[in-house]
Amino acid sequence: MEAAPQMIPDDTLVRKAQRLRLHRFSLAAASYVVGGALLLAVSILGSDLVPITPIVAFGFMALAIAANAIFYLLFRSDINLRFADPSLTIPQMVVGILLITYLIYFAGPYRGLLSIFYLALMTFGLFHLNTRQLLGVSAFTVAAFAFMSVLLEIRHPDAASLVDLVAQMLVLGGLLPWFAVLGGHISTLRRRLVEGNRRLEQALAQIREIAIRDDLTGTLNRRHLMDLIMHQKAVADRGSYRFSLCMLDLDHFKRINDEYGHLIGDRALQAVAEILGQQVRVGDIVGRFGGEEFVILLSETPLQAAAETAERLRQQIEQHTVAALPEGVAITASIGVTEYLAREPIEAALSRADRALYRAKAAGRNCVRVETPPDRDPTRRASGAA
Ligand code: GH3
Ligand code: MG
Ligand code: MG
Repeated sequence: MEAAPQMIPDDTLVRKAQRLRLHRFSLAAASYVVGGALLLAVSILGSDLVPITPIVAFGFMALAIAANAIFYLLFRSDINLRFADPSLTIPQMVVGILLITYLIYFAGPYRGLLSIFYLALMTFGLFHLNTRQLLGVSAFTVAAFAFMSVLLEIRHPDAASLVDLVAQMLVLGGLLPWFAVLGGHISTLRRRLVEGNRRLEQALAQIREIAIRDDLTGTLNRRHLMDLIMHQKAVADRGSYRFSLCMLDLDHFKRINDEYGHLIGDRALQAVAEILGQQVRVGDIVGRFGGEEFVILLSETPLQAAAETAERLRQQIEQHTVAALPEGVAITASIGVTEYLAREPIEAALSRADRALYRAKAAGRNCVRVETPPDRDPTRRASGAA
């Protein structure tokens, strides 16, 4: 049958999405590398104000490397695909929040400054999470900060004033949810955009189908049929490629309409179109040429083989029982067959097929007739040369 439109296999889409996720993940991992390096530099310089020691810095790096190695393995092994969100956005954010909280614990007077990283981290989820999820992440952040504050007050009561910690917590508790609401809004806009694009693509595919297909039978419409035939002609004119044309017309179809109604006639037409679609090979072309007339292009098929195929089509149509028709009433077709002769006008081949069809009708219908191309040199054709 005519070539189906090129569909992108699902597998390719999954691989593409995985590559994007890995890319996004590597951006996050790179942030940890930069953060870790800065931290190490600060700890080696040593400052009385910042109690971050090399051990703390190495601890941060070790935790970051371990967590990211796990994410990397999840992405590479496709295990992430088993989760509802294969991007693992929330788990990655949770790890980030814990690591930032770990740092803040040791950040001394820079605690407030480092809290900005919480906001930076939120941007990571902006495009992927909805408001509710972002609010959840905010709540988790405030809880982690609160837990850290309690730990700090118990273990190093002198290191930070309780008032400062509570104030910071309040700021976080106000700022992060606000960020979440804004982020949720962005997410909604983005989702609408994605959905709009998807609908547009769908509509475009639909319009494409409408442009090339016949509404009733789903076979190619006459215009597209002729486009494809002209393309095949161009290929045949260049070399040894050859094709045949069958012109098929249903027998006494006016009678079917008159006796059983136009709607049942339509059902019969659809049934015939379905048989044609099923019977021809990939690369062959089926189109509705007119009312109850179809043209079938058999690619790489010389006349004799085309005649055999046409005969098979004729038998299939005759044997098929159209459900809408009363028992015993069969639809039959007459078929005219010819082979395209390289470099002749396509109209010449079509009218030859039409002449063969006319002869089939004259011979009593429900049969196949063949019209040999003129000026045929058997030695040249048999050798397969153009
Ligand atoms: P013949 O064996 O000589 O081909 O007889 P026929 O009655 O099939 O020939 P004719 O060309 O005179 O009539 C074709 C009929 O096909 C006329 C029309 O009513 C019917 N027809 C054409 N298009 C459609 C369609 O889309 N649906 C239906 N139901 N009938 C159609
Ligand atoms: Mg007819
Ligand atoms: Mg007709």
